[in-house]
Amino acid sequence: MYSKDKFKLGSERSAIRELFEYGKRQARIVGAENVFDFSLGNPSVPAPKKVNATIKKLLKKYSSTELHGYTSAQGSIELRTAISNDLNSRFDANSTPDEFYISCGAAAALCSVFGALRTSSKTEIIAFAPYFPEYKVFVEGSGAKFKTCELDEKDFQFNFEALEKLINENTAGVIVNSPNNPSGVVYSKESLEKLSAFLEKKSKEFGHPIYIISDEPYRELVYDNIEVPFVPSIYANTIVCYSYSKSLSLPGERIGYVYVPGVCEDSKEIYAAVAGSARSLGYVCAPSLLQRVVTECVSEKPDLSVYDKNRRLLYEGLSQMGYSCVHPDGAFYLLVKSPKGDGNEFSNIAKEKNILVVSGESFGCKDYVRISYCVDTKVIQRALPYFKELIK
Ligand code: PLP
Repeated sequence: MYSKDKFKLGSERSAIRELFEYGKRQARIVGAENVFDFSLGNPSVPAPKKVNATIKKLLKKYSSTELHGYTSAQGSIELRTAISNDLNSRFDANSTPDEFYISCGAAAALCSVFGALRTSSKTEIIAFAPYFPEYKVFVEGSGAKFKTCELDEKDFQFNFEALEKLINENTAGVIVNSPNNPSGVVYSKESLEKLSAFLEKKSKEFGHPIYIISDEPYRELVYDNIEVPFVPSIYANTIVCYSYSKSLSLPGERIGYVYVPGVCEDSKEIYAAVAGSARSLGYVCAPSLLQRVVTECVSEKPDLSVYDKNRRLLYEGLSQMGYSCVHPDGAFYLLVKSPKGDGNEFSNIAKEKNILVVSGESFGCKDYVRISYCVDTKVIQRALPYFKELIK
């Protein structure tokens, strides 16, 4: 006997992974240089130099048992203090170290928060399209219901009309992901203020707080000096899920955090529930070596020059060819409207030319495809003529 639900999850790959695996197989047949893989969001710039230097230093400084032993379940006090100081100096966050729970990346942070907010099988969590497809898996894994708020194609900000219809007394939280995967859009301060006023009104109406779950793995990946508003300073009932996967280019090392600001309603109880949720999932004590590394590298920033170059090359190149692209201000994704009107169809046709772009269907925007431009610039330069053929 085994769980049919979990079997289904484990045996079906996500559309992104499916395409990535196809790319690896295809590379063995036609040669890696002839496959243009824009499927995964795997950072292509190396981690800041200080990261590896710190690892080497730590290996010399500490004994193996000191370095690799368990930390407290919620993470070391040194790391939580470093993160708290960093946020206080950048955003006037007024945070304290006991408001942070160190997690194995944003994925574990999100799962812990959804578990903490789920109060019954009726609990609902809303995500705005376009959204990261794993939200559905994480929310449903917590036993809550996953609801999606229709895309607003006008400006890719929040669709309040659709939200009004969707929100109800069972809504526990709304996910905000900015800069956004897959659109690269940064939600403006005005949009967030409008969302904040809307949620305050609805929280009063339903007699309980509706939290914003601010999923921020791309917070530092932003171009042209665009400001990424700090969501807790706009809406008090915000719970932040952060990750160093993209900001320090450490996706395989699994390190991030949950931040439950003290001003959040029931903050102490929510924090304890996050800890309990993480405990029940087995997510206690994020990797100890990485906790020490991030303690020293908390203020390091990624080198965005390559992503920025790729972003311009693709956005300008494809727009000139006649593609309709969502202007990306952050992250490393470009969302492109399928010239055929259907993302699945375009993804399949592109695949025949070994151009691997992910259909928008699983992101809640089925007429689009997502291009991950965290690749070598040469891959984009060589792929552009094929995109030109595709639009013909
Ligand atoms: N949230 C979004 C929007 C993402 O794009 C990703 C990963 O790509 C995650 C969460 C998960 O991040 P992590 O690798 O830190 O678990």
